[in-house]
Amino acid sequence: MRDYFLRLGEKKAPVAWCTSVGPAELLRAFGFEVYFPENHGALLGATRTAGDYIPAAMKYGFSGHICSYTTSDIGAYLSNDTPLKKHYGLESIPQPDLIVYNTNQCREVEDWFSFYGKEFNCPVVGIHPPRYLDEVTKDEVALVVQQFRKMIPTCEAVSGVSFDMDRFKDVLRMSAEATGLWQQVLKTAKASPPPISFFDGTIHMGPIVVLRGTPEAIEYYKALLAELEENVQKGIGIVEQEACRIFWDGMPIWGKLRALSELFIQNHAAVVASTYCNSWIFEDFDENKPFESSALAYTRIFINRSEKAKMEMLKDWIEEYRIDGVIFHDSKTCFNNSNNRFGLHLRLKEETGIPTMVVEGDLCDLRFFSEGQTITKIETFIEQIESHKELV
Ligand code: SF4
Repeated sequence: MRDYFLRLGEKKAPVAWCTSVGPAELLRAFGFEVYFPENHGALLGATRTAGDYIPAAMKYGFSGHICSYTTSDIGAYLSNDTPLKKHYGLESIPQPDLIVYNTNQCREVEDWFSFYGKEFNCPVVGIHPPRYLDEVTKDEVALVVQQFRKMIPTCEAVSGVSFDMDRFKDVLRMSAEATGLWQQVLKTAKASPPPISFFDGTIHMGPIVVLRGTPEAIEYYKALLAELEENVQKGIGIVEQEACRIFWDGMPIWGKLRALSELFIQNHAAVVASTYCNSWIFEDFDENKPFESSALAYTRIFINRSEKAKMEMLKDWIEEYRIDGVIFHDSKTCFNNSNNRFGLHLRLKEETGIPTMVVEGDLCDLRFFSEGQTITKIETFIEQIESHKELV
């Protein structure tokens, strides 16, 4: 990760900004270094500096109730500050030559990235796939492929590199390999005791977000997988023996990862899987159909789907990871990834018989998070799961 940020700071190649589930592979095929503002938002959250910057964005006119990745990132920019200075010695965030977003996750990214397009006077390209689908059919894929292809002349003009199909295939092959390894990493948590938790996953996911399509991501996940598999063999887990297995739905609470991780461990509960970490598994990537498979993979992601599709995906994960309880994080500034808002947590409980609960919080803005209340709620929920397990 350090090398990645230092490379961005050197600015030896043109820089493209991209949303976290945007077309990074196509950008890398043109030789762009790719920078992800959401990753920067997560850094602001995890370093608990987001709260210092959000007011600057609010003063500029952004509501304190919209995505706190957006407000903390824009606030940091307006304050001319970034954790990349302190942690990696960069002078500032890398300046973009091209900005690309995909609204497969939310419309907020369009407003967020367009703000920077004006600030840096640089081209902004958007992909707008159909949303909330039960199934993604070839019609939707064809539409998104057209949008991918439409990006090519802008990428060529900004990078000075002609589109090369073989290069695109090569990057997609590497991305497919990395995402496959990431999937295997997450699946090691099916073991009992699990060698990795959701909280560990939020840190280890860094390379699959910012380095997919590079050999570094492949190397990283090969090494991580080998270590986790060895731990499974030796019976080394995040807890000695888990009393219950929990699924986390929604955004992480970046500023409270350690506190929450320790809380679950103290209560012998293992948070073994999440919609969040699973969002960077792209099983559809196929180097032989680079445009179609990218369009399909990036349109089929959980956050972009209908409640019916989400329900089926959740039920599959519950079965696969032998889940005893599901926590829905109601992230106050991200309704897009707060799946309880329309009652999914109650319907999931009804259909599966598995206890579910809602934790109020936020991805970056800790004003929406009450630690005392959350600890009590989670401890009560774990007790409830344990008594439910005794009954069944
Ligand atoms: S999905 Fe949520 S957290 Fe992510 S950019 Fe959109 S609004 Fe922000």
